[in-house]
Amino acid sequence: MQRFCKICNGWHDLDEPWPRQCSVKVSISGLQIVKDIEPYMPVAADTDGKIHAIGGRRQHREFLRRNNYVEVGNELKGPSRPELDHTSKADIKQAIDQVRRR
Ligand SMILES: [Zn+2]
Repeated sequence: MQRFCKICNGWHDLDEPWPRQCSVKVSISGLQIVKDIEPYMPVAADTDGKIHAIGGRRQHREFLRRNNYVEVGNELKGPSRPELDHTSKADIKQAIDQVRRR
């Protein structure tokens, strides 16, 4: 019995061991390879107030964590500018009332 091989576009006998150069490529294509992000210049300054190039996903995560930045799409928001747009005044009043009742 033979089986078609997509790697070398040939046929291999299933009674024989599958060629290594073919099986290796099959296993790699079956894996999800997470590509690291390309180096980039962030839009926000680092802890020293300067903008440093980010060289990879790991650096990117550490950069966000040590600055308490929140990733919003491609923008970075610092913790000093809280967004109140989505919170109505009624919500805030309700929250204050709840705190006062304690
Ligand atoms: Zn093959």
